Amino acid sequence: MAITVVGSVAFDSIESPAGRCERCLGGAATYFSLAASYFTDVRVIAVVGEDFGAEEEQVFASHDIDTQGIERAAGKSFFWQGSYLENLNEAKTHATELNVFGSFEPRIPDSYRDSEFLFLANIDPILQRRVRESMPQVKLVAGDTMNYWIKDHKPALLEVLKGLDVLLINDTETRMLAQNSNLVQAARSVLGMGPRMLVVKHGEYGATAFHRSAESGVGAKPFRAPALPLEHVVDPTGAGDSFAGGFFGYLASQPDITPAAFRRAMFYGSVMGSFTVERFGTERLEQLSRDEIDARFDLFREITHLD
Ligand code: AMP
Repeated sequence: MAITVVGSVAFDSIESPAGRCERCLGGAATYFSLAASYFTDVRVIAVVGEDFGAEEEQVFASHDIDTQGIERAAGKSFFWQGSYLENLNEAKTHATELNVFGSFEPRIPDSYRDSEFLFLANIDPILQRRVRESMPQVKLVAGDTMNYWIKDHKPALLEVLKGLDVLLINDTETRMLAQNSNLVQAARSVLGMGPRMLVVKHGEYGATAFHRSAESGVGAKPFRAPALPLEHVVDPTGAGDSFAGGFFGYLASQPDITPAAFRRAMFYGSVMGSFTVERFGTERLEQLSRDEIDARFDLFREITHLD
């Protein structure tokens, strides 16, 4: 099974209490692809500028990520600058420069057209919708967004939500989208906007899946996956996208998408997020092995087992 992902491929300048990282490789689609690549084939749709060189290309190539859909344009790549000095759970954005993404027209290579899974990573909802509409054959569509789009581009975002099976966002975004401070009520209202399943990420406290009804195939009760209590959190950037990559990558690797597969996918999402935050940027995510991933999955099982 293959996943096509559209989203930002970027350079990030990040500051956290552990230090800083200047113009390190980032972007929602980058973190997602790297995390998902440990489970299944991944194909990326994005645009980069002239500052995206052989070194960055190699990060994707060494994980067998298909980059035919990454267009090279004249200009600079998407740039994001953020810090976590006051709160490790929430980034403070200092700069967002869309650069080449400002005039991006996504083109889907023919070789991507048989993808069964589509992930609309965080990017302008207009682009998310265009890609969704160009790939009507996909079996499962999931997506992400952020406060920036919820606040200033809500009508376009609401159109995207109508075409999603699974929405993965954090708790602040859930409350903001629903304009309701109670998480359960907010989740119910977001499920009314289109997705059959809502995965609410709680940063260092794990994630909760909500479903519209028992008919969604995963049961009507919420399901909570923990996060691993870590002694050193270096850089939370990309934890949410890595969660999504682990979650969706695992689902795509399964012969059947059963309720049990969804539950394990929630744990694999947490596993991938827990690795990402251990180093700046994509460093930790680039160097993993499937054995390490499965060992951490077992650790998650152990710390949540009751009897
Ligand atoms: P996360 O920490 O998982 O929420 O995502 C962090 C990544 O999102 C960074 O690598 C940024 O490059 C990327 N990012 C930040 N702002 C935006 C935006 N407005 N649109 C798309 N990607 C963004």
